Amino acid sequence: MSAQLIDGKARAAALRAEVAQGVAAFTAAHGRAPGLTVVLVGDDPASAVYVGSKGKATREAGMVSGEYRLPADTAEADLLALIAQLNADPAVDGILVQMPLPRHIDSDRVIAAIDPAKDVDGLHPVNTGLLVSGRKGLVPCTPSGCMLLITEAMGNIAGAEAVVIGRSILVGKPMAALLTNASATVTLAHSRTRDLAAHVARADIVVAAVGIPNMVQGDWIKPGACVIDVGINRIALPDGKSRLIGDVDFAAAASRAGWITPVPGGVGPMTIACLLANTLAAAHARA
Ligand code: NDP
Repeated sequence: MSAQLIDGKARAAALRAEVAQGVAAFTAAHGRAPGLTVVLVGDDPASAVYVGSKGKATREAGMVSGEYRLPADTAEADLLALIAQLNADPAVDGILVQMPLPRHIDSDRVIAAIDPAKDVDGLHPVNTGLLVSGRKGLVPCTPSGCMLLITEAMGNIAGAEAVVIGRSILVGKPMAALLTNASATVTLAHSRTRDLAAHVARADIVVAAVGIPNMVQGDWIKPGACVIDVGINRIALPDGKSRLIGDVDFAAAASRAGWITPVPGGVGPMTIACLLANTLAAAHARA
């Protein structure tokens, strides 16, 4: 392996410590700690784990953690009523509705109901618009975390060629906007892209957010590139156990890249750290 390994776990721990200091200062200045409330609808086990770890991280940062676990058959109107209640609650700075929602609930309507100033997931159309306009708003946590890792590895990325693979509203599109705002030249690739290998081959920065194990081949990577693997794929092993791998063929890519994130331990830990940072920023903006 010639690439430098980007230690997302260590970077996330440092960011969480920074946020905890900021939270202590906020609490001393305003007589209350910032609050993050997470809403989970249904009993998807993976979502329940995410919600649990978000609550734990929130408390560890010194913030107030609120949690609502609603049954899978919750009516959309009841969820919207809860969001209205949280929007009006002065102790709540951040609201996160865990996705995906059950099919009978319109997730666009739910996201649009969250006060944009409390939308710490950065998915409200107002925050999306601010991001695309290059103005200050709440930015989705995963691309925010990727951006920190990229700029800390590479420094100024103005003029760099960047390829983002995946165009979801959660990762790919905001990632492309952040890289554009930092003056990279951005290609946003997706399932209809022709000759993905050729796009990746000229990229100084590759961000893979697809959800297909090892789909980005090592020999596509431009020597010296910065490779950020957002993918989280659980692979069954012959012994009946399982393990997590990314969207990038790690071993082959690491022999050509300049920097690379591992899976797990790369982008994943940054997401929660950025959620905490967003909550503190939202608290300051509302104070
Ligand atoms: P989505 O399923 O919403 O989006 C996947 C994207 O990949 C789509 O835009 C799709 O294109 C594109 N795609 C699918 N097949 C191909 C292909 N063959 N070639 C090029 N592009 C393709 O996923 P998310 O963005 O939500 O998540 C992506 C991955 O990142 C998942 O593995 C997820 O688990 C992980 N993830 C990790 C996080 C973390 O904290 N580390 C946080 C969020 C997600 P099209 O639009 O044309 O269908």
